[in-house]
Amino acid sequence: MVFWTKVCYIRIMKLLLQYFFFFISLVCLSQQTDYVDFKTAKADLVVKPNEGQIGGHIVYTFEVLKDVDSIFLDAQNFTHIEALYDEKVYHDYNGKYIVVKHPFKKGEKNQIDIGFTTNPKKALYFIGWDSNGGFESASASSVHSLNHQNGQVWTQGQGKYTSNWLPSIDDMNDKIEFDISVVFDKGYEVIANGKLTKTEDYYGKTKWHYDMQQPMSSYLVALAIGKYDKKVEYSKSGIPLEMYYYPEDSLKFEPTYRYTKRMFDFLEEEIGVPYPWQNYKQVPVKDFLYAGMENTGTTIFSDSFVIDSIAFVDKNYVNVNAHELAHQWFGDLVTETSGTHHWLQEGFATYYALLAEKDIFGDDYYYWRLYEYAQELFEQDKAGQSTSLLDPKSSSVTFYKKGAWVLHLLREQVGYKAFRKGVKKYLLKYQFKNVKTDDFIKEIEKSSGQDLRNFVEKWLKSSELHYEELEKRFFPNKVFIQDMHGQLNPLGLTRYFPLDCDNQPEACKIIFLQSDDSFLNEKIVEQLGNNISKATFSKGDVKVRRAIAKAMTEIPKELKEDYESLLTDKSYLTIEAALYNLWTNFPEDRIRYLNQIKGIVGFNDKNIRTLWLALALVTSDFEPENKQRYFEELRGYTNPKYHFEVRQNAFQYLNSIKACDRVCKENLEQAAKHHVWQFSKFAKQLLKEID
Ligand SMILES: [Zn+2]
Repeated sequence: MVFWTKVCYIRIMKLLLQYFFFFISLVCLSQQTDYVDFKTAKADLVVKPNEGQIGGHIVYTFEVLKDVDSIFLDAQNFTHIEALYDEKVYHDYNGKYIVVKHPFKKGEKNQIDIGFTTNPKKALYFIGWDSNGGFESASASSVHSLNHQNGQVWTQGQGKYTSNWLPSIDDMNDKIEFDISVVFDKGYEVIANGKLTKTEDYYGKTKWHYDMQQPMSSYLVALAIGKYDKKVEYSKSGIPLEMYYYPEDSLKFEPTYRYTKRMFDFLEEEIGVPYPWQNYKQVPVKDFLYAGMENTGTTIFSDSFVIDSIAFVDKNYVNVNAHELAHQWFGDLVTETSGTHHWLQEGFATYYALLAEKDIFGDDYYYWRLYEYAQELFEQDKAGQSTSLLDPKSSSVTFYKKGAWVLHLLREQVGYKAFRKGVKKYLLKYQFKNVKTDDFIKEIEKSSGQDLRNFVEKWLKSSELHYEELEKRFFPNKVFIQDMHGQLNPLGLTRYFPLDCDNQPEACKIIFLQSDDSFLNEKIVEQLGNNISKATFSKGDVKVRRAIAKAMTEIPKELKEDYESLLTDKSYLTIEAALYNLWTNFPEDRIRYLNQIKGIVGFNDKNIRTLWLALALVTSDFEPENKQRYFEELRGYTNPKYHFEVRQNAFQYLNSIKACDRVCKENLEQAAKHHVWQFSKFAKQLLKEID
């Protein structure tokens, strides 16, 4: 959030310098939204990927709510920008916003046309184009190059400000109906918010026209360009669900988008308010900053979640899919007025995603997840970092997980019917508007007839977690915990019921053999570590066996054969851990293990292939004639044309076998400037280590 007051201060200074007398507009005391209401925006854009540039025109229509002497639009670090109003051109631009000074009168309806070009540093990203400071086009050289390593362009507005590439309003309290047209090279898909009304030839390129019918905050404007195919399904209510994928990933389509339609239908029914937008598009992109972003009707997500059916068990898109979908109501339809009310977006999206998952995976799953959330909050609490849910500086653990918990608690308190009725009223009353926590609470008070002042004080305003109460109230009474296991409580894993497998491995083994609860068994195996018995291998399902592969680092001879069977499991995490542990424990069989796993790539981050290459390089008698080729392949994965997660694995392995040479280091230096901050931080640290 950037408040008008902050911007205005700079503006006063500027005016004082210019005119030597006082000219302080009343606008300075409040936000521009009190004076001007922007209604529609029609953007006509040209994207030039090889120059990293975007330009064009955006025409805003607006209504003046109170007399005002100037109107501004945010535009960060534009190379060229000018505004046309009432046949006059304005150039008053300070690198942050463009101002049109004019005595605007209340009730006046008019439009401003802004022409611009810029090379954005953030919020719009050009991935894999020649222009992109060292990013090379993948199509030219490598045998490993795939279509998706060709260029992409995508946006991330939340936290970055759309005004870095499109003159717009940083304040999310002004909702605007955006219609976006984009000119781009032929052969690419161009995806934006709204409905595609037509495409047309445009001087050898293609012009794409998108149309929205309802307003939204500027941070939700989305643009994604790349080589894609798509499949369309229809929800029960008839909404097109447009799911994009890279042309070479047709076999990954089903596992990636598994349960999409089911969750969509579930949420529409559960929330009780029809999906508010014309369609729902989901687009995977390379090197995304987050897991996913809920742009209106157009979720963009990391292609790390594009997975095959084996990877599904380890890492899938289901939770992120449900979370971004829930935001289409909570965040996009009703939007927080300020960071104080951020939980109205993230807490709700987390909670409704959990409800959608409960519908698929069952009640046990739901309570185990809530239990895990409570554990995370408890850890934060022990570190003295608990904050009020209404503190705009709260951690994401608080906004997301305490937010979800508060909704769970509230629904328990007022009952399912009143909760659902209140949520529905709240959404309908404030649709396409902005909301505060009070707006929500009032609707639940009305629907339930309860006075919620104490609830709000205790769970929302107070920074106290009340962990004991959460645990006492919710976990000891749940069927899945007590009835199934009698005395032996999974909560034994908490401080209340210490189940200490380190010191009591035999007791843990007995519980394991009696229990059919996969979650519980995973936890026991994690604690047992190297104390795992033979029976554990045969009893465990794929998730329990994955826990064995990770936990058991010292493999006794008598379990060697059982352990080797993990190499054929349908889990890339299992195979990765098993290969490494077997290679370490049984040097005499290294060549056999390497031959068995040869050719398995793993996830999109190539977790197995990169490990395999590193092991192949340091196994002296394994294919000496191919050593150079394997080295070049592993080093090749440090190149900017690969996904940052692939690169991170390659850097780590090269460093661990002391083989990060000049080329690797150059790629590492480039990585230190990467737009994904976690990756650039990793690269900077590794550079220090190597020097
Ligand atoms: Zn979210």
